Amino acid sequence: MKNATILGAGTMGNGIAHIFAQSGFSVVLFDLSESTLEKAIKTIASNMDRQVTKGLLSATNKEAAMARIQTSTDLAEAVKKAEIVIEAATENAAVKLQIFKDLDTLAPTNCLLATNTSSISITKIAAATQRPDKVIGMHFMNPVPVMKLVEIIRGYKTSNETTESVLALSRALEKIPVTCQDYPGFVANRILMPMINEAIEALYTGVAGVSEIDSIMKLGMAHPMGPLQLADFIGLDVCLSILRVLQEGLGQPKYAPNPLLVNMVQAGHTGVKSGLGFYDYSQGTKDSPVAPSFQKN
Ligand code: NAD
Repeated sequence: MKNATILGAGTMGNGIAHIFAQSGFSVVLFDLSESTLEKAIKTIASNMDRQVTKGLLSATNKEAAMARIQTSTDLAEAVKKAEIVIEAATENAAVKLQIFKDLDTLAPTNCLLATNTSSISITKIAAATQRPDKVIGMHFMNPVPVMKLVEIIRGYKTSNETTESVLALSRALEKIPVTCQDYPGFVANRILMPMINEAIEALYTGVAGVSEIDSIMKLGMAHPMGPLQLADFIGLDVCLSILRVLQEGLGQPKYAPNPLLVNMVQAGHTGVKSGLGFYDYSQGTKDSPVAPSFQKN
């Protein structure tokens, strides 16, 4: 494979485009607006600059990788040469089903269709296409250039051939693929999201403040980041969507999103990407917890 198209140029899409370009692929990065694509290209360039500063990438290789990334707002044009498409659009089932329906018509018949969904059923997404054997979950972790894991999720009809190709591709991207079956939240979010939701519950019920909850989990469990800060990095809207998929798909009240999380998302406090979440990122620092005005009075 040489040609990859990435759909969605947000937090994950720009990271996925970054690693494909760095691994020698010709990349087309697609999103709905030019302004999103411009922002994504700036983010990729600055993340590669950081790798250059750290001696992980040469300046020449950075320029070569950046030159391999094209952008597009025309889906037909973006996928016409693709051998694999990685969909990293908003975590919304209706959006993804429409994208896969369109991809099935527009992408070459042999093209593999992967989704970076955190929780939506691969089998359901695959059923929107006439090629469910070529649809697979390729769940990269955030930040993509740094994190080694790719959770590979086989849908009910995903073929062995597709799975083998995607395992080989993941290794070519210098990632470590681990496979699992297609059930709500797969493995990573089935376990991570209830922990994040419980941390929010602890804040909401006044067990401890933002810093205390995160410090206890960092120092006590050797987590590199506390659960509230991690939620901010993932995006509180993304966390909320995943919890709703777990709640609906597994049918147990323990997955119900905490009301504080729902309120914060409704208020537009979605974490790092909005500048405000459990912490205030507007001054560029990661360590200013927002006063507990979010808590239940
Ligand atoms: P994001 O909100 O940062 O970016 C989503 C992008 O999708 C936006 O730029 C939006 O304009 C674009 N988009 C919306 N509709 C589209 C369409 N029809 N076609 C193409 N692009 C469209 O979201 P994100 O955090 O990058 O998440 C993307 C996917 O990756 C989601 O499925 C999410 O669950 C998954 N994911 C997220 C994380 C994380 O930590 N944020 C980790 C792993 C997986």
